[in-house]
Amino acid sequence: MKRRITLIPGDGIGPEVSLAARRCVEATGVEVQWEVVHAGADIMEKKGTPLPDEVLESIRRNKIAIKGPVTTPIGSGFRSVNVALRKELDLYACYRPCKLYPGVRSPFQAIDLIVVRENTEDLYAGIEFESGSPEAKTLVEKIKELNPKAKFHPEPAISIKPISRFATERIVRFAFETAVKNNRKKVTAVHKANIMKCTDGLFLQVAREVAKKYEGKIQFDDRIVDNMCMQLVQKPNDYDVLVLPNLYGDIVSDLCAGLIGGLGIAPGANIGEGAALFEATHGSAPKYKGLNKANPTAMILSAVLMLRHLGEAKPADQLENAVATVLKEGKSVTYDLKADRNDPTAVGTSQMADAIIKALIR
Ligand code: NAD
Repeated sequence: MKRRITLIPGDGIGPEVSLAARRCVEATGVEVQWEVVHAGADIMEKKGTPLPDEVLESIRRNKIAIKGPVTTPIGSGFRSVNVALRKELDLYACYRPCKLYPGVRSPFQAIDLIVVRENTEDLYAGIEFESGSPEAKTLVEKIKELNPKAKFHPEPAISIKPISRFATERIVRFAFETAVKNNRKKVTAVHKANIMKCTDGLFLQVAREVAKKYEGKIQFDDRIVDNMCMQLVQKPNDYDVLVLPNLYGDIVSDLCAGLIGGLGIAPGANIGEGAALFEATHGSAPKYKGLNKANPTAMILSAVLMLRHLGEAKPADQLENAVATVLKEGKSVTYDLKADRNDPTAVGTSQMADAIIKALIR
């Protein structure tokens, strides 16, 4: 039976790395009917929206999608397509395995962490008020009325950080279930509850409550986010599954990607009850657009996660092994995986995909 999968190529390096992933999936022999739909900066020019309705409709219909990165203008312009997709489809769990493959340069050995990031609330909720706007002024007055101790400098811009029991409970449960399914030993909740006693305090309290249900099966501890960052670069092997609110999850995911060889390697998935969307941790790296230079590994490993999610365990393992073989050989890899970034033996995006396909068929 052919699988119907939504494919969103994205922009920047997105189309190149997603084509590499598509070719690799096809080489596994899993039969796929790709439904290609477009989101991001390029379609914005044509259709006046970076997220046309047909994208959401296609994902809702197929329940499974793979997506290249999409550019989000900084400071102004349209809001993030990525955030909109996660919110619209309630893809509440961001799952990012960070595994160090032999052959990839890193000061560490045998890292195998899983980052679970909450995807729907926190400072990412997009509830923001511009400096000097009437809404920001009204909000400041209201806050002063509710909390007379609150002090503001003139005309602040304001972002709201909602953290709920509902969203925390389901993400922490997801993290524990991930630990159980993957034979992991420990879940660590990451927070700043010492300072943000209401929001992060609730996150920690709910995490402790959920952890009790797994007592005797999965260990639980917690770390303050700044200390967590230091510990991850000093002794990453002390950690196993991390669960974080949205913003810390975003930042710590990139930190963990750095531990395992960089953003070119780190895959990811956004999972909800009704749909799952697979995408690399990295962004659209606009400076490499169209240069056949970007590393396709993160996108190909995201496709591996997708195949596992579809129940195609054997082709998924075969594709992951092929990626591991090419990384270990270290020959047909992109510039970012070479000791010297100007190494003339580095290959392009499509050539690295060719090498992975060859290793798959060998
Ligand atoms: P980025 O991940 O695009 O790039 C950060 C650094 O990593 C750059 O030096 C880049 O060249 C390098 N890099 C990234 N992917 C690589 C790859 N596959 N191979 C080799 N090198 C790679 O992050 P950024 O520069 O902060 O963001 C660029 C744009 O991407 C922004 O508009 C941002 O909003 C967007 N973004 C999108 C997503 C997504 O679609 N899920 C995620 C993160 C960022």
